Amino acid sequence: SSRVVIVGAGHASAQLCASLRQEGWAGEILLIGDEPCLPYQRPPLSKTFLAGESALDELLIRKPDFYDKQAITLRCARVRSLDPEAREIRLGHGETLAYDKLVLCLGARPRRLVLPGAELAGVHHLRDAADIEAIRADLPAARRAVIVGGGYIGLETAASLRNLGVAVTVLEAADRVLQRVTAPEVSTFYERVHREEGVELRLGVGITALEGDGRVSGVRLADGDLVAADLVIVGIGVVPNVEIADRAGVSVEDGIVIDSCGRTSAPDIYAAGDCASYFDRRQGRRLRLESVPNAVEQAKSVAAAICGREKEIAALPWFWSDQYDLKLQIAGLSTGYEEVVLRGDPATGRDLACFYLARGRIIAADCVNRPHEFMFSKRAIAQELAPDKELLTDLTTDLRSLLD
Ligand code: FAD
Repeated sequence: SSRVVIVGAGHASAQLCASLRQEGWAGEILLIGDEPCLPYQRPPLSKTFLAGESALDELLIRKPDFYDKQAITLRCARVRSLDPEAREIRLGHGETLAYDKLVLCLGARPRRLVLPGAELAGVHHLRDAADIEAIRADLPAARRAVIVGGGYIGLETAASLRNLGVAVTVLEAADRVLQRVTAPEVSTFYERVHREEGVELRLGVGITALEGDGRVSGVRLADGDLVAADLVIVGIGVVPNVEIADRAGVSVEDGIVIDSCGRTSAPDIYAAGDCASYFDRRQGRRLRLESVPNAVEQAKSVAAAICGREKEIAALPWFWSDQYDLKLQIAGLSTGYEEVVLRGDPATGRDLACFYLARGRIIAADCVNRPHEFMFSKRAIAQELAPDKELLTDLTTDLRSLLD
């Protein structure tokens, strides 16, 4: 019978296993991942898992018996190379395995600080369960944590550590947090809340070294200041795992290039998730997204394509982030927006909706503790709604009345 080999055992591949069987794939499914556990949810790592509120087996995407029932073979190994001509992959210890269909769900790895002291004990990244276990092992002795990077992962980590009573400083190179992904108004909102929660935020700062004798004791800033730290967590973005594809001649542009159904440039090789770059019709360009909904959507399209059915990658991108009591839900992609319309005040309170407009139409929204606005936004974006801005900001407007 035919064999699908899936490389990487994370969000995309867990979905792919389920979707392949739903689409009627009756052949063999071999799932190879290099982490010593079944696929688990990554988002809680910086949230409840770091805070010690959930155990790893509660984070599994599918229960262990799912893989038995669906006749999925699991292997813990690292794949070193692919041979598209021979239709083989090669594992770390030299063993080769044949495939009929190959799916690359390789994810991404944390970008590293390239600075003196980056290898000191007490300096961590945050991508997988092993990273959290290492951080948690350092926590009992940690009094002062420094987080490098004011993106979602950095800010979620800051909130989790504050909840544990650790003193936290966030260092951000840009002049505001979340600069890459949100409007200044939303950054202002998050900066205020983190300061209210006792986080020290230092914006527009460069780092020149991590200092310490074996174990980190401080972070040296470009202006000469030393920020004391016994725990440093680096959250400065990720790099997609594309190397094995690239070396095999599979087309890569930031991510592994896939078509609208998840096929790569090589026959019978597919890709999905953080490692893949797809053409987004709404944005009119290639994108590589880093989110669970994206991994799930692409995996569904790949499963359909493998089973001979065309299912385009078309779902509206969305994302979420939890910090303290703030539940942020994001609909759409704000890139290319021309103006924002706010519902709520970034200077006060614990909720806010920020709508992003281009040519008068809503293209995206950041909704903090505003689930109705999030629901509204998804529909408004789909309808290409050009709302009356006065009505949109007016808290007395029932937003549903603005929809078609
Ligand atoms: P992954 O889940 O990373 O899985 C890839 C797997 O492949 C990994 O296990 C990796 O070790 C393995 N692998 C790589 N190369 C090889 C190889 N050569 N051989 C064998 N195995 C290999 N997204 C959201 O939507 N909302 C959130 O709130 C959110 N929070 C997050 C918080 C944190 C701390 C992190 C790290 C991520 C968060 N994300 C969030 C992003 C989300 O987790 C990713 O987008 C998602 O995991 C991508 O799934 P994937 O299958 O592409 O990759």
